Amino acid sequence: MKNALAKSRPGIFFNSGFDPRFDAELCVACETCIDRCPPEALTMGDDDVPVVDFDRCFGCAVCATGCPSEAITMVNKPDFQAPPKNGKELKAAVLAGRT
Ligand code: SF4
Ligand code: SF4
Repeated sequence: MKNALAKSRPGIFFNSGFDPRFDAELCVACETCIDRCPPEALTMGDDDVPVVDFDRCFGCAVCATGCPSEAITMVNKPDFQAPPKNGKELKAAVLAGRT
């Protein structure tokens, strides 16, 4: 996992199939989710609601479980691609992430 997170786009080959969605009405801009996100996929947006880099997010839900105002909901990823089934597929995905 440490090696996967070091890639520029870990979310494309290491993914749960879920995306976080942020409720702007509930978010209090505390940045807890940004601090907790393992692959550093979150930044604060201009409207004080976190923005997701989906090339980095792998759908772990750590952000959602730590949100003090329950502003984050995990939803099915609409364009989910199943993770690599073996080393060959993983290598191809890693190489694709370098482009
Ligand atoms: S943890 Fe929740 S309230 Fe805090 S910035 Fe993230 S979404 Fe907003
Ligand atoms: S689900 Fe949340 S904590 Fe996990 S990688 Fe995505 S943005 Fe980061």
